[in-house]
Amino acid sequence: MRFEYAPAPESRSVVRLRDSYGLFIGGSFVSGSSVFKTISPATEEVLAEITHGGAEDVDRAVAAARHAYERTWSVMPGKERGKYLFRIARLLAERAREFAVLETMDNGKPIRESRDVDVPLASAHFFYHAGWADKLGYAGFGPSPKPLGVAGQVIPWNFPLLMLAWKIAPALACGNTVVLKPAETTPLTAMLFAEVCQQADLPPGVVNIVTGDGDTGRLLVGHPGIDKIAFTGSTAAGKEIARQCAVSGQRLTLELGGKAANIVFDDAPVDQAVEGIINGIFFNQGHVCCAGSRLLVQESVADSVLDALKRRMASLRLGDPMDKNTDIGAINSRGQLDKITSASQAGEEEGARRWSAPCALPERGFWFPPTLFTDVASSSPVAREEIFGPVLTVSTFRTPSEALQKANATQYGLSAGVWTSKGSLALEMASRLRAGVVWANTFNRFDPASPFGGYKESGFGREGGRHGLEAYLDVVATDVAGTVADV
Ligand code: NAD
Repeated sequence: MRFEYAPAPESRSVVRLRDSYGLFIGGSFVSGSSVFKTISPATEEVLAEITHGGAEDVDRAVAAARHAYERTWSVMPGKERGKYLFRIARLLAERAREFAVLETMDNGKPIRESRDVDVPLASAHFFYHAGWADKLGYAGFGPSPKPLGVAGQVIPWNFPLLMLAWKIAPALACGNTVVLKPAETTPLTAMLFAEVCQQADLPPGVVNIVTGDGDTGRLLVGHPGIDKIAFTGSTAAGKEIARQCAVSGQRLTLELGGKAANIVFDDAPVDQAVEGIINGIFFNQGHVCCAGSRLLVQESVADSVLDALKRRMASLRLGDPMDKNTDIGAINSRGQLDKITSASQAGEEEGARRWSAPCALPERGFWFPPTLFTDVASSSPVAREEIFGPVLTVSTFRTPSEALQKANATQYGLSAGVWTSKGSLALEMASRLRAGVVWANTFNRFDPASPFGGYKESGFGREGGRHGLEAYLDVVATDVAGTVADV
């Protein structure tokens, strides 16, 4: 049964959009050489004009970060750095509604998610790392681990503020300064964050934000004044950056794509597993690197799980992301919508059977219905390649070892999920799944204290927790098992 709800739109009045935004360099907003526009993916309305950072702008930003690193930030006691981070965390929490509305306007994600997930987690990241700033000597990296210098950070569009927090909070806590480049389709919360840095009286140049596209990212990554690069984005761009760094010798962490298996055993509680599958793939329109995009379900319960899943998918509400009832918002850009559409068409042409939830799509904006594929050959691109949209493939298995073999048969290794009422089976699967994160009887749970990162083509290095600090300290990198890694 589907309940009807009256619309419950969040008000936009809390956000004061400027007509145009400059670059944030040395603590001030400065103009650059050219501009582009950022739009709302739900309405295609132009939201603001954004500066496109060129070579000179990147130079200026790196110089400001270097100056701040040498003169203030790296010589400031950790306890003092921590105070700034606490201040930023509190300001994010105080201005949470403003950030959530702006994120939803620029990204297209449901306000329910930006309000309840993105913004609180971003604030929590600053709170968590504020606590580390004066305790780095107790983190197991020696008595006084040193920062690396200036970090160049490039982030994607799926969790714009949250990815910013994952990058900036640990870098600053460890005494580094940063130049961050947000994604071209979602720069607005980064610009609002720049205002928060001013409000927190953060010393000028500690955080610099240069907007632009992949070319601006390339300029930043290739800049000789950068000591450490932290990149989150596609595996293709990650490989390009890894090649560049192999020559330059810069420190590098990569958080890349994924194609996670979500494995449902026959003893799992079906209703909870179905909620987990829905959350795994339809949260944030499936624009999630660790999305559970491959459902593996034990053959004996496959029909009942699939029936329940379709019923639940049919009840998802797609539409205005500003409406508090909305479950599925807009696809972030026309380019991403085209990618999802063509990957789905290719799946159908290869013989996979498609089922999409029956829902009306708004006329304007970029939309794709929650969709699943059955009868999918494991060699099919729809089952192998990251679609980064609300598209799930479903296949079956008979034994735990068959599930493991299918789950690990991917070039990625970011995450996985296991649904079973047997603790021993969950632990056994977790130890044999080649994935950086394995969730048991839940999915897409994040915590600043918990390290996140991948194996294989999902990248290397960890973000979050004690492991995440290591990426911003001048210490020998170790892998998650504690052995020296060849990065
Ligand atoms: P993308 O690689 O196209 O772009 C990511 C960012 O990198 C953008 O800011 C872009 O402007 C910039 N960029 C692009 N090419 C670059 C280059 N050669 N050098 C430097 N910068 C460059 O990826 P996207 O489409 O924006 O994001 C989606 C991808 O990000 C998916 O593959 C997803 O799985 C991945 N992702 C991974 C994680 C993780 O933690 N592992 C988290 C979120 C997203």
